[in-house]
Amino acid sequence: MQPFLFQRAASEDEAIAALAARPDAVFVAGGTTLLDLMKLNVATPGALVDINALPLTGIDVLRDGSIRIGALVRNSDLAHHRDVQSTCAVLSQALLAGASGQLRNMATVGGNLLQRTRCYYFRDPIYACNKRTPGAGCAAMEGFNRIHAVLGVSDHCIATHPSDMAVALVALDAEVRIRGKGGERTVPITDFHLLPGETPDKESVVAPGELVTHVTIPVRRFAQRSAYVKLRDRASYEFALASAAAALDLHDGVVRDVRIALGAVATKPWRASAAEDVLRDNTLDDTTVAAAADAALRDATPRRDNAYKIELAKRAMIRALHLASTTGGEHS
Ligand code: SF4
Repeated sequence: MQPFLFQRAASEDEAIAALAARPDAVFVAGGTTLLDLMKLNVATPGALVDINALPLTGIDVLRDGSIRIGALVRNSDLAHHRDVQSTCAVLSQALLAGASGQLRNMATVGGNLLQRTRCYYFRDPIYACNKRTPGAGCAAMEGFNRIHAVLGVSDHCIATHPSDMAVALVALDAEVRIRGKGGERTVPITDFHLLPGETPDKESVVAPGELVTHVTIPVRRFAQRSAYVKLRDRASYEFALASAAAALDLHDGVVRDVRIALGAVATKPWRASAAEDVLRDNTLDDTTVAAAADAALRDATPRRDNAYKIELAKRAMIRALHLASTTGGEHS
């Protein structure tokens, strides 16, 4: 591991100023992604700014019923929070499906959103990777690409985003609060992560030196009836090969509103808007659900080893819709 400076920030202002002063500095909180990448020489920051002392550890139900989550809330605390479990089960389920108990105790909400891909070529500096070294090429295109994306891909990168939590947040219409030298802004979660396009090294709208401070989950009817399904090679401590979050507002068996998000099959947490359009205002039966699943994967672009993900994602989505439909009560 390369030598680096370490400093602690006591406030948001101090943290933001520290990064403004050193362009080669990065924030560290739980460190569950960053420290691995530093040991692999994939991330080589000149300085770490520890933000664990910042007052961003609250989970607050606001006056309008929305839930505001500090960026330093640990994944375990969020998963087991009573209001999260009772109003948006999909988020709790997604968090508990991720990583191990030990990692969930360390990993933060902000770090989870910003975690890096599990593409093995990205994580091994002997291979060409446009995400790690812009312009270097992509070893995954003609390499072993079983875990790679079929949606949102480009000629420059086909890596999946690894987060389970972010997939659930897409199904909940969450918003992300970001603060930098120029002030604060709020970004819908669907706009937070970027498609790789020609610049796969740019993964989110967070600019250098900016700090994610909160995630807010608004009140939505469909959040009450929601579920997460994760399909993977083994039952625990493993990243998804395909996952789906579904949230349903049902009335007399008819879908009044719906959110569907897919994970591990796309280059960012993927909102399946085409599937939602098929379901909305229709009866939730097997035929409609199958048509929605087909619509969700219609634009998939498989490569040599990952075509199986198309069917796997459809099954995850169908299962998530079934589980969501059998939880919670009907709304009048
Ligand atoms: Fe790098 Fe993306 Fe190619 Fe993986 S898929 S090697 S992350 S450019």
